[in-house]
Amino acid sequence: MTHSLFISDLHLSEDTRRIEQGLTTFLEKEGDLDRLFLLGDIFEAWIGDDDDGPLARRFADIMKRLADTGTDIYFTRGNRDFLVGQTYLNEFGAELLGDMVCKEVAGESTLLMHGDLLCSDDVDYLAFRAIAHNPEWQADMLGKSLVERRELAKHLRAMSKEAASNKAEDIMDVNDDTVRTMMAEHGVSRLIHGHTHRPFRHTLKDAERIVLGDWNTTGWCLRERDETLELIEFEL
Ligand code: MN
Repeated sequence: MTHSLFISDLHLSEDTRRIEQGLTTFLEKEGDLDRLFLLGDIFEAWIGDDDDGPLARRFADIMKRLADTGTDIYFTRGNRDFLVGQTYLNEFGAELLGDMVCKEVAGESTLLMHGDLLCSDDVDYLAFRAIAHNPEWQADMLGKSLVERRELAKHLRAMSKEAASNKAEDIMDVNDDTVRTMMAEHGVSRLIHGHTHRPFRHTLKDAERIVLGDWNTTGWCLRERDETLELIEFEL
């Protein structure tokens, strides 16, 4: 029987040591784990795999300990940590997944994504995303010094916070038509994503959309065990 966990939106930074500790404790309690899916925004910001900051090392150590017990680790990029690459993931043997990937979960092909692409009413964000995912833009970004990139990341974060505070609530949630279209394109009846910070299991027509929660004073995860799925919240 497969034991898997799906988590997202930990938004780790140097200010979230408590969440890091909570993650470590949570993983230890879970025990033998076959698969861990990190579905985006694990980090609040990511300036490149060459970042020599302590957070990247600490997180790699947590994951390395898990990988050493035989857990397969998968990583999907979020809108904040979209520059994470296979180079960093190699430090703990994780596999970088594409923006939309289907995996067998609880006996069924299931679409996994961060969730930002589902928020198709957020046209400003999607315009930024198109730029930030352009290989030339990324090469230019990664060519800058770490000091410059840290400054830029701070700036982008401030801009994003301001934009979010000016947006209508419904724009920050998924667009139902986009959900239907993407699920149909991938021929799945189950979708798992994060990003919106609205943890819930939505029953759709003959289908299900499971939304992971963000980590703050509590943590959230979807657990697959013995072919069943359970969305759980726990104290950190
Ligand atoms: Mn996100």
